[in-house]
Amino acid sequence: MSQTDDLEPILDTVRKVCAAYPGPYWRACDRDRAYPTAFVEAMTRSGLLSVLIPEAYGGSGLSLTVAAAILEEVHASGCNAAALHAQMYTMGTLLRHGSPEQKAEYLPKIASGDLRLQAFGVTEPTAGTDTTSISTRAERRGDVYVVNGQKVWTSRAEHSDLMILLARTTPKDQVKKKTDGLSVFLVDTRAAAGAGMTIKPIRTMFNHATAEIFFDNLEIPASALIGDEGKGFRYILDGMNAERILIASECIGDGRWFIERATAYAKDRRVFDRPIGQNQGVQFPIARAYAEVRAAKLMTREAARLYDTGASCAEEANIAKLLASEASWRAADTCLQTHGGFGFAEDYDVERKFRETRLYQVAPISTNLILSYVAEHVLGLPRSY
Ligand SMILES: Cc1cc2nc3c(=O)[nH]c(=O)nc-3n(C[C@H](O)[C@H](O)[C@H](O)COP(=O)(O)OP(=O)(O)OC[C@H]3O[C@@H](n4cnc5c(N)ncnc54)[C@H](O)[C@@H]3O)c2cc1C
Repeated sequence: MSQTDDLEPILDTVRKVCAAYPGPYWRACDRDRAYPTAFVEAMTRSGLLSVLIPEAYGGSGLSLTVAAAILEEVHASGCNAAALHAQMYTMGTLLRHGSPEQKAEYLPKIASGDLRLQAFGVTEPTAGTDTTSISTRAERRGDVYVVNGQKVWTSRAEHSDLMILLARTTPKDQVKKKTDGLSVFLVDTRAAAGAGMTIKPIRTMFNHATAEIFFDNLEIPASALIGDEGKGFRYILDGMNAERILIASECIGDGRWFIERATAYAKDRRVFDRPIGQNQGVQFPIARAYAEVRAAKLMTREAARLYDTGASCAEEANIAKLLASEASWRAADTCLQTHGGFGFAEDYDVERKFRETRLYQVAPISTNLILSYVAEHVLGLPRSY
């Protein structure tokens, strides 16, 4: 799959960084459930993680299209951007809605790598996908907000200096619209840890540093509020479109990796005196996966283009994430099947990538919820829930 010419120099940098982190590195992290610190640091040092930060704050001020291409290439190189992608998709919330003081204080340090903004605390155990039903409360008391409640699946919380946190500042039964009364905070996790915030890691089927977070009278300065109190849901939605586009790009990168591996193995492996890839039963699923990944890429590019122009892109971002997550999963299944028994051997990396790419049909938003969005908001069908 070709890339456009102007992206080529930056993609070349991505490939060079990723080349230093081959399969054995990721296998060791996977086995030990270790955070890939060296890889995250290399990506940060190369400037690839700060492409969305404006030049005035030490970044390179590039578009979401570029950020998406970077994450796609990370995954196509066999690496995993899950350890670091949140910095890109939370950036919109801070850039678009943060105060000049917040931007001046945090953005240069994030760009230089002195601070990590990698945690995004939205999901709660009881509310699930029904975000407006979250019950974590932030109550204003003088110069501080006092936070009580619980988050779940807050990825990278242990490895992040800052966290974007969504909390209720007005109870749901006291607002006109259920989307009102939610606020976004930029929480300094270094100050919060042990002072009212406890992080409890969750062990998952693949290496993903995710955690539960408990808030017990955590005091955060009132200056941590991003934008206006009560309007946080809208700010988060902005960020969610970016997140869907970036995750779709990672799925496309995974899809490319699976197809490349499947094709190479199908050419090489000989059974019954012929390469297995000579059999249509082996080559057709690979060809189909290739077609599906390419189609998903077109929709993802279109969503990113719209996002970059400031146009509405919710339909495209949702559809891109739906198509890309399904295309990468089918490519994963095809790759594993093509490898026969060796698909299950750790040394081939296929089973690890297979486990990793499955996530994206569930998070950051599950397939059913995207279909509901399209049915209701695009096709005008009655709301189903
Ligand atoms: C590894 C991992 C990392 C994550 N990282 C983060 C993170 O960093 N920050 C964060 O905030 N969250 C994170 N999440 C949470 C993730 O966004 C949610 O798991 C996801 O949105 C689904 O929510 P849920 O698990 O509560 O599922 P639920 O809302 O309980 O839904 C369960 C199932 O029911 C279906 N369903 C529910 N309601 C309907 C309906 N009305 N119609 C049809 N189907 C329905 C869903 O599609 C889903 O398949 C992460 C999750 C995982 C597993």
